[in-house]
Amino acid sequence: MAYTPMMQQYLKIKQQYKDYILFFRMGDFYEMFFDDALTAARDLEITLTARDGGGGEKVPMCGVPHHAAESYIARLIEKGRRVAICDQMEDPRQAKGLVKREVTRIVTPGTVMENQCLEENNNNYLGSLLVDQNGCGLAYTDISTGLFCITQFTGSNSFNESIDELMRLQPAELLVSRQKHRAVAGILTGAGNVLLNAVDDEIFDYDRARDIMRRQFGRDWPENGADRLEFGLRAAGAILYYLQETQKRSLKQINKPQVYFTNQFMRIDAASRRNLELTRSIRDGLRWGTLLWVLDLTSTAMGGRLLKTWIEQPLVDPTLINRRLDAVEEFVQNMFLREQIKEMLKKVYDLERLAGRVAYGSANARDLLALSKSFDVLPELKKVLGHCKTRLITQIATSLDDMSDINELLRAAIMDDPPVSIRDGGIIRDGYHPEVDRLRSASRDGKNWLAELEAEERQKTGIKSLKVRYNKVFGYYLEVTKANLNQVPDYYIRRQTLVNAERFITPRLKEYEDMIMGAEDRLIQLEFQLFCELRQKLTEQVDRIQDAAGRIAELDVLVSFAEAAERAGYVRPLVSNSRKMVIEEGRHPVVERVLEAGSFVPNDTLLDDDNRLVLITGPNMAGKSTYMRQVALIALMAQAGSFVPAARAEIGVVDMIFTRIGAADDLAGGRSTFMVEMSECRDIVNNATDASLIIMDEVGRGTSTYDGISIARALVEYINASIGARTLFSTHYHELTDLDILPGVVNYTINIREINDEIIFLRKVLPGKVDRSYGIQVARLAGLPERILRRAKEILLDMESRGGQGRSTADCQIDPAGVKQREAKRDGHCRQCLIKRLTDELADLDTSRMTPLEAL
Ligand code: ADP
Repeated sequence: MAYTPMMQQYLKIKQQYKDYILFFRMGDFYEMFFDDALTAARDLEITLTARDGGGGEKVPMCGVPHHAAESYIARLIEKGRRVAICDQMEDPRQAKGLVKREVTRIVTPGTVMENQCLEENNNNYLGSLLVDQNGCGLAYTDISTGLFCITQFTGSNSFNESIDELMRLQPAELLVSRQKHRAVAGILTGAGNVLLNAVDDEIFDYDRARDIMRRQFGRDWPENGADRLEFGLRAAGAILYYLQETQKRSLKQINKPQVYFTNQFMRIDAASRRNLELTRSIRDGLRWGTLLWVLDLTSTAMGGRLLKTWIEQPLVDPTLINRRLDAVEEFVQNMFLREQIKEMLKKVYDLERLAGRVAYGSANARDLLALSKSFDVLPELKKVLGHCKTRLITQIATSLDDMSDINELLRAAIMDDPPVSIRDGGIIRDGYHPEVDRLRSASRDGKNWLAELEAEERQKTGIKSLKVRYNKVFGYYLEVTKANLNQVPDYYIRRQTLVNAERFITPRLKEYEDMIMGAEDRLIQLEFQLFCELRQKLTEQVDRIQDAAGRIAELDVLVSFAEAAERAGYVRPLVSNSRKMVIEEGRHPVVERVLEAGSFVPNDTLLDDDNRLVLITGPNMAGKSTYMRQVALIALMAQAGSFVPAARAEIGVVDMIFTRIGAADDLAGGRSTFMVEMSECRDIVNNATDASLIIMDEVGRGTSTYDGISIARALVEYINASIGARTLFSTHYHELTDLDILPGVVNYTINIREINDEIIFLRKVLPGKVDRSYGIQVARLAGLPERILRRAKEILLDMESRGGQGRSTADCQIDPAGVKQREAKRDGHCRQCLIKRLTDELADLDTSRMTPLEAL
């Protein structure tokens, strides 16, 4: 049996959108059928029904009301689905036969505009990665704000570098060619919820990319030389192509691409971003407990997003860094000014996303009102900023567009409290458009006119009892009682005769009637039209709005830095191109915030040519990781333009931060702890320079003690001699502390006090070394049962005493700590050690000078 014509229409459209949930508009509902219905009913928790589709069997179906579609779409996107929205392209009342339907928009995680899907403080990126033999191109956009960036990587490490950059960006969706899909998917597992979208190779075509960019941005678009970036451009072209295919509407909010290179910023690889908890905590990926959490005192949404970007992309040019610091300092010193600006910023809505919705054609009257209220602040803000002295702020002050012309228009046009829908009227203010006024007074004042007309007719005819009345059949009419019929003038048209009275109409009465009844409809229609025209006018000015938004964001971040500095007692760091790092009384910005006030113990740091590599020993829990992270965070904050938690700080710019902290199995990636550790070390030694900062926390822990010590030692030697990077290296292995004979290597330890069998952490970092691990004491602190602790101590004492007599376990070459004691066979040697000795002896034999018997 054949499907009904409508079902056939559905299936034909669905055929082209197989991977999408198809929202099929029918009257006031979007309906879903077949498997889509099963999926959506489950995801959205809505009722599954069935419909006779003509195919013999009932077709599974579910639906959502069209006015609530946005929130349902948002929920599907959150579940990682993609949605195609199919609308009716003609008015069903006027359609002959089947209503024409078309897919008008596709919604995917990287192309959502719905507020419900967007986090205020986070950009929502659609990325595109081109992997070529000779390099990689990376482009990304946030269509809700218009941000569009392009970069590329060449050289042998280009793929890894682009992956690092993707890890920073955490796009919601990434376009990648079908061929590379698998390779990228393997690496990006663990990078949050990125939807990998495998697309045809040809959308990365160079000529096609150039074409599409020209069409979007005009002939002269590559003013910043972007057309010379072959790989980056191809990635960008793919993004635009994909957007045009899926959005099917104006993309005017997309800015001209900003070209950047990752070496303009401090390079922080993916592992270090995670370890340092810059914007996401390791624990749950949320904000709490991160550097961003401590520093974010921004007042606007775009400021919040920019702050995140600044923290993720610290600068490396001291001039630019100092410009930010100058501005922050001005705001630190002038609290009154800062408070004044903050008050104003609080009134500014999310201009970037509002501008995005305007250009996208999805802004409603409330959005326009929000724009207008934000613009209200700008002239005053500009004036206040005019008093500032530092370069960055005066630049903002002079270039900030106060939008007064647009705002005047908006204020004149939009009512104070418009409804959400733009199709119900109540949007356009009185006085904006004469026809609106006329129609509105027609419906509002209609009753008055009728009263006036009644009075007038009474006077003209002399009939005191004449009345204007209304019923559904005749509309408005004039009623005259029998007794007065002789006074009715001849322009009265008789409509109905009753027992005691007759009913008339006049042309003027009918005219009023038309006006009153039609006015409402026409008013709504006209308001909608005027609103769309206004939105279109704004679309033409959208880059002005975006520009203002950008400057306000920057101002907001600078003010926020100043406020954070004052709240937590940060100081301005001296930033230069030296290779030094001097921190007096430095603190960890997050740990100090979480601990009880005043309980964090500040510590000094000195890294320079004579103190290049600091070895830190000390028991577990002493505070080694905290200390090392603190140094990295202070450098990073300084280079982002923030003041730092210290009494004084001198930061020679760091080009890259590397951290090798903590042990994490990469089970999904199929790598053991040790493998992860070693590949991170490989990246460090391959990439670090003498301007880098390296932090290594107990490297070598993942393997046997002897291997561990050897690797750690070799790494220290190499980093110190061949790289010369400023390095903090914490270790359990006391054996390493004798490395301080090397120039540039120094020993530090974190102070503890031992009382009886307990230790107290003093948390003070001092020159020196420790020769014990205090493992049992730390285990006691952790609450391990006393019985186990007693036994552990017995074993330890036993081992130490055995180690003391005759052949010490420390002589054992494989296992100096004696972990494999139980395998010991004789002479205090473990089995592996004996085997090694035997192999060594065998290797020393010269068989050419032996008799066969000797050899045997
Ligand atoms: P380690 O790396 O030596 O095992 P951590 O750096 O993890 O030690 O520190 C353990 C705990 O000690 C941290 O969670 C923190 O609460 C506390 N701590 C570390 N450094 C300090 C400090 N300078 N002042 C106060 N508490 C600290």
